[in-house]
Amino acid sequence: MRVPLLDLKAQYASLKKELDEALIKTAESQYFILGPEVEKLEKNICEYLKCRHAVGVSSGTDALLIALMALDIKPGDEVIIPDYSFFATAGVVSRLNAVPVFADIDLRTYNIDPKKLEKKISPKTKAIIPVHLYGQSAEMSGIMEIAKKHDLKVIEDGAQAIGAQYSDGRQAGTIGDIGCFSFFPSKNLGCFGDGGIVTTNDDALYEKLKILRVHGSKPKYYHRIIGGNFRLDAIQAAVLSVKLPHLDGWSQKRRDNASLYTELFLKAGLSSAPGKTEYGNDRVLLPEAVFRESGLKNFHIFNQFIIRVKERDELRAHLTGKEIGNEIYYPVPFHRQECFDDILKKHGYSGGEFVNSETASNETIALPIYPELSKEQIGFVVESIKEFYSAR
Ligand SMILES: *Cc1c(COP(=O)(O)O)cnc(C)c1O
Repeated sequence: MRVPLLDLKAQYASLKKELDEALIKTAESQYFILGPEVEKLEKNICEYLKCRHAVGVSSGTDALLIALMALDIKPGDEVIIPDYSFFATAGVVSRLNAVPVFADIDLRTYNIDPKKLEKKISPKTKAIIPVHLYGQSAEMSGIMEIAKKHDLKVIEDGAQAIGAQYSDGRQAGTIGDIGCFSFFPSKNLGCFGDGGIVTTNDDALYEKLKILRVHGSKPKYYHRIIGGNFRLDAIQAAVLSVKLPHLDGWSQKRRDNASLYTELFLKAGLSSAPGKTEYGNDRVLLPEAVFRESGLKNFHIFNQFIIRVKERDELRAHLTGKEIGNEIYYPVPFHRQECFDDILKKHGYSGGEFVNSETASNETIALPIYPELSKEQIGFVVESIKEFYSAR
């Protein structure tokens, strides 16, 4: 039984008529960039996330970049980020000649650990970018408290987490100064190319974000600040407005799939409970927060379903041999990326300080979790993992 890591064609098939109509409508309008479709999407996203403002942009990466620009991050400023995320989180900081400062993660959630974050604050620190990795909110109350105490800005990287909620029920991406989301096709809400959006509850930041999106121009052709081309295409907005009403249903299916995985892993005797960070006699460590009632109470939307195993690379080979899609998000933590060698030397990081991101990069594996997966496919994945361990 083939189980792809992601099958976008299944989702397209379920909405083909409406999506095709949206594409044709855009073609007929010949209105391609920003405009009414983008404004409609921005309004819809504000309603969905219960925030004041949203600004459609060209990608999740550009969402992060424009957020840093709006908050006036300057060369030499330090921005604290988790050591473990998709590269964009770190890359945008360096692109402004600011300095990404890495903090280790919490192995329960794979998100930045507020206690380790606080130790990284220096007089040059200006902002923090918590990432809601895999679709689970970072520990926002702890992070906001630290930010307030040290007068730091908070940009939430919610690229993988649209619709996720922090344990107090607030939408991930609406708690800090600016929230950033990606509509890359493999995210929970994906368009037909690149796209992203930034959210804020601050009126002045909203105005600035809109100006930065069009090269810093206001009025047209007059520039008091320098921005870029960060515009969202109308065709992507039209696709997203068709998909948005279905997002909660898809997220629920991902959560159901995560629950089924959990149940099957427990039944197979591979794991004794979800949310453990030490192996004991377990072969497989499962994510927590599948259920709202669980310890963390975050509403996890499972952009990825991540398990931890000691025999990661061997298990990957076994799964790949059975045509079961799998991936490592991410094999190299930031402190080991070659492009950051200079920063590391300058900041004198000690090797042992990123133990958790090291562990994550060595032991995690992503299993298929997309909404249209069948129970049989999930059963087959767990059976195959059981088979791997019974042969050892
Ligand atoms: C996908 C992603 C981004 C970047 O989004 P793009 O739309 O691909 O530019 C940034 N941060 C995280 C955590 C992501 O997963």
